[in-house]
Amino acid sequence: MLSLQRTVGNQAAQRLLADQASRPAVRAGAPAAIRRAPGQLAPGAARGPLLQRDWLSEWAAKSRKLPFKLIGKPAPKPVTPGVIVVDNRVAGFNGTYSGAIKGMNAYHATQALNNLLNDIEWLTGQPEGQVWGSALTDLRKDVVKKLQTITPELERLKTSTGEETWGRFEQFRELPDEMAEFASRPRDTQPSQFANPSATFGAMSNPREESGLLTEESMTTLEEQDKEKSETMLYGHKEELGLRGKGVDLSKITPEQIDALLEQTKRADTGHTEFPELANLAEGTAEAEPDEVEEVKDAGGVAVTLKYDRTDAMWEQRFGLVQAAVAQAAGAGFTIAPFSLHLPKYGRAISISSTDGHTHTVTIGEDTAQAQFVAPNFMYINSRVFHNPKVDTGLSFKLDPSGIATIVHELGHMTHFTQSRAKYNTLSFSQLSGYSKQTGESFKQRVEGAVSKYGSGNPRELVAEVFLGLAYGKTFPDDVTAAYNAFGGPAQG
Ligand SMILES: [Zn+2]
Repeated sequence: MLSLQRTVGNQAAQRLLADQASRPAVRAGAPAAIRRAPGQLAPGAARGPLLQRDWLSEWAAKSRKLPFKLIGKPAPKPVTPGVIVVDNRVAGFNGTYSGAIKGMNAYHATQALNNLLNDIEWLTGQPEGQVWGSALTDLRKDVVKKLQTITPELERLKTSTGEETWGRFEQFRELPDEMAEFASRPRDTQPSQFANPSATFGAMSNPREESGLLTEESMTTLEEQDKEKSETMLYGHKEELGLRGKGVDLSKITPEQIDALLEQTKRADTGHTEFPELANLAEGTAEAEPDEVEEVKDAGGVAVTLKYDRTDAMWEQRFGLVQAAVAQAAGAGFTIAPFSLHLPKYGRAISISSTDGHTHTVTIGEDTAQAQFVAPNFMYINSRVFHNPKVDTGLSFKLDPSGIATIVHELGHMTHFTQSRAKYNTLSFSQLSGYSKQTGESFKQRVEGAVSKYGSGNPRELVAEVFLGLAYGKTFPDDVTAAYNAFGGPAQG
């Protein structure tokens, strides 16, 4: 079954709004005929002054370190990660929205407040929620009130956008509930992009399965688009890639000069050259006519359809890294499906120039990806991967700088796709969001600390980096593991 109808609010918010509407309103002025002694309040109006306070702004402005302090109750209550989450959400809201909330801000503010309501509700059910109880109740009332003030602008926005376009926009924004705890769509996407959507945005905004995942048809469209983009990226400059001399005859470089070049380009951290493809210079195959072949080879019991250049001095070493990577993942209990692999002889343009006839220098020109997975089962590994990891923004560098870990990361993307295709596709155009209920920090920061900066890039990178860590026996905190599972991260058998 498919469902297109989505609403901006979530169920929690709507329940609360309905709740409020069904209660008699507290009137500002009591009937004049009823006289009371000074200081005596009408029944039901006792909490009036408290409700007048702008909790949302007061709280964030003055009590960043001691949430709820402003309500005039004793402050030293347990400030748990859950309390910090609520505090951060309030501060985030107030930091982003001030004054009248207009245009798209009405939509984003509504989302932010609904997220806050969800977390208030969650915190209320926690042990510390009992202690913070009345403060949470008051905050919630203010949030609901704030939501009500935004509603007319949101309705105006929907009407001016048009029902169908708005419906597509909201469908695009939607992620299945289990993922929505850790991820969202980027804020910069505009409703107007869905008036006449591209093939990709069309697929992302079509009706979904009941589960909130993309349909088969939408997935097929996305995969075709991704494939096209990846191929352009990997092979768009193919003619320009390779090793050449600039004012230097490569066939005239002496073995001693090549040795000197390899020595001089050695990385201090790995002890290997940062230009592994220079091996072709040493072997005298730099300028050989290309001889690309495709053969099925075995990598730890997995059939790999390998495309390589027989004149590439490094293909065998690189394939050795692939075999080791498959063994590493399989050894940790992951099931790796057969795949196609291209090991380009170069993958980037590299030139040697000589300034004074003795000193040679290496220059890098056009480049392609270090390593890339393209759905459904294709992997590309640049010649520069051999013992030459990128700097330490990912786990690869820490776990195994030989290049094996880089390939395990790509196997992570591939296995994510083969084992959870619908989740993999539905995570297109998503980013990490929300807060860690274990630490209170933003979930992106949490992942950066507990996994890697690279893994905090987006949900798919989180899956690939955690997969890599698991393949090397690393363990992760519960909330990171929960996100990995929610995103469809491969299970260890
Ligand atoms: Zn990746």
